[in-house]
Amino acid sequence: MPKAQETLLEIDLKALTHNVAFIKSKLKNDTKFLAVVKAFAYGSDAVEIAKHLEHLGVDYFAVAYIDEGIALREAGISTPILVLHPQPFNFKTLIEHCLEPSLYSQRVLNAFITVAEELKQKNYPIHIKFNTGLNRLGFAEAEIETILSLLKNSAAIKVKSLFSHLAASEVIEEKAFTLKQINTFTNIARTITKALGYQPLLHQSNTSGLLNFPEAHFDMVRSGIGLYGFGNEREFDNYLKPIATLKTVISQIHTLKAGDTLGYNRAFKANTLTKTATLPIGHADGISRQLGNGKGFVFIQGKKAPILGNVCMDMIMVDITTIDCQEGDEVIVFGREHTAEQLSDSINSISYEIITAVSQRVKRVFVR
Ligand SMILES: *Cc1c(COP(=O)(O)O)cnc(C)c1O
Repeated sequence: MPKAQETLLEIDLKALTHNVAFIKSKLKNDTKFLAVVKAFAYGSDAVEIAKHLEHLGVDYFAVAYIDEGIALREAGISTPILVLHPQPFNFKTLIEHCLEPSLYSQRVLNAFITVAEELKQKNYPIHIKFNTGLNRLGFAEAEIETILSLLKNSAAIKVKSLFSHLAASEVIEEKAFTLKQINTFTNIARTITKALGYQPLLHQSNTSGLLNFPEAHFDMVRSGIGLYGFGNEREFDNYLKPIATLKTVISQIHTLKAGDTLGYNRAFKANTLTKTATLPIGHADGISRQLGNGKGFVFIQGKKAPILGNVCMDMIMVDITTIDCQEGDEVIVFGREHTAEQLSDSINSISYEIITAVSQRVKRVFVR
């Protein structure tokens, strides 16, 4: 890759191939692989990532919202797409784009059946989501009878899968809770399958779930963060490769004398001679204001340069007093060596938040 001359998010598709292979090495041969590509494939680029993953032969995609699924269909993606959090007003559009809804309450199940019948569907694939402890979205175990009677009364739909989501699969202290969730889901799945008379796919694990709980692989796993290079634990991070590198450049260098201030609201005051670099990346590009005032940092010539003062909309200023660098030099915000995980630690956040925050204004470039 040539050196960056503007702010860029470089996405390494070879690293994506590597991460898929690593995750698959943890699965049995016949376990299906659902790739989670919501939120622009965790801030990278949903279309390019989905095309590459489709080429690698993943079995399923998941997005959060219907519009995200439409974008993939319009780009020519033909693999089944599960929409994790659809809204009923849009069910007609969902069906028109051959997207498959997660149905998580009687309200949305009823609404979906109504629309599917209006559109004269037969055996339209749906996914029934159960709440086994996250208390976010999902039917309760106690609703099984009601669900079954709704399902039996309509030929418009067919249950493609039953699924649930783990609450704390990366927290070793919560192992007993996770095992309880797995057990609850197993019982729900058994009861429903028996009553339906056919076998829907079962799935419960996200990335940490599949890495930490082989007993929760069921028929399919849903991996998001692992694809993008993070395993939520050092042990797994060592095998995964972050696919995205956020780069920028030095626009201008300033030298502050003791007593000079920097940036909005004069938030930084120099105590001694301080050299600063101004970079064309700010909170509108995904650099949280939380990272300002010495918490966050970037890397220039391999050296750590803390962010000084407040993060502006389009710029940050960093401390380069001890770094030998020039205007036009490349800057790494996060990447393979200096990871988004490390940056997230400085503001008590997680890799997910740092990588998904990179805004659409930042140009994406692909390494193939
Ligand atoms: C986002 C999401 C995932 C992916 O989780 P990762 O931790 O990124 O692997 C899986 N399942 C559901 C229901 C999700 O919302």
